Amino acid sequence: MVHAVLERLFDAPAAERTAPRARGLVPGEWEKLLAARPELAELFRREDGSHDAERLATWLADAERLVERWFALEDPTRLEPAERELHVETVLPDVGDAGLTLRGIVDRIDVAPTGDLRIVDYKTGKAPAPQYRGDALFQMMFYALVMWRLRGRVPRRLQLVYLGSGDVLTYDPVEAELLAVERKLRALWEAISLATETGDWRPRPTKLCGWCDHQAVCPEFGGTPPPYPLPVPAQRGGPADGPAAPVEGAQGRMDPV
Ligand code: SF4
Repeated sequence: MVHAVLERLFDAPAAERTAPRARGLVPGEWEKLLAARPELAELFRREDGSHDAERLATWLADAERLVERWFALEDPTRLEPAERELHVETVLPDVGDAGLTLRGIVDRIDVAPTGDLRIVDYKTGKAPAPQYRGDALFQMMFYALVMWRLRGRVPRRLQLVYLGSGDVLTYDPVEAELLAVERKLRALWEAISLATETGDWRPRPTKLCGWCDHQAVCPEFGGTPPPYPLPVPAQRGGPADGPAAPVEGAQGRMDPV
């Protein structure tokens, strides 16, 4: 919903993109979301089935605070996004029979008069601690790779806007890094394909396991994963008697599954 507000605000003329206007968009965007996904009303239902108007009001007020914080980080009166909520898709050739499709939705793309691209992503949470920034950046490098493939130009800047903590992280990628991301994606897909064929999906336990709904089918908790539901291609060459090694990349370690 916050994303929708930040997207819609740019419909207004530059001078009218103010914090009060953005806050004022929140209830309407919630209504639109609710119309599209009526099940969301359950989030604000008490145990006795009645509507919890107080909790909804608190939640909407939180959303308004996040929207308002954005104005301390960026100035929408001085921005004219080239794209908002842009669906991007490209195919990495030479992977399997049909290539590997990469797709995503980019929150915002700004284009400078020089033609330089800036890819912007909004996060409603807090900025990660420095040791986890590589993971956050990987998503942006993924978008950068896709945009490079689509437009033939390496994006000049990647920008993560954390509304929860009021931080902005930026990174200026270079071609060699995007090539490394491409290699990493190929290796990741190879690892996923191998795990699909062998059925050997390795759990990746973290502190968050305590909140996981899948403990019953997770080997980490003595469970057995269900069989993969789609046809599995025939075994290919390569390491067949175990899972693929973890993928190492420029942004830190990333396990295949
Ligand atoms: S699937 Fe297993 S390893 Fe992964 S988060 Fe859930 S409990 Fe943890």
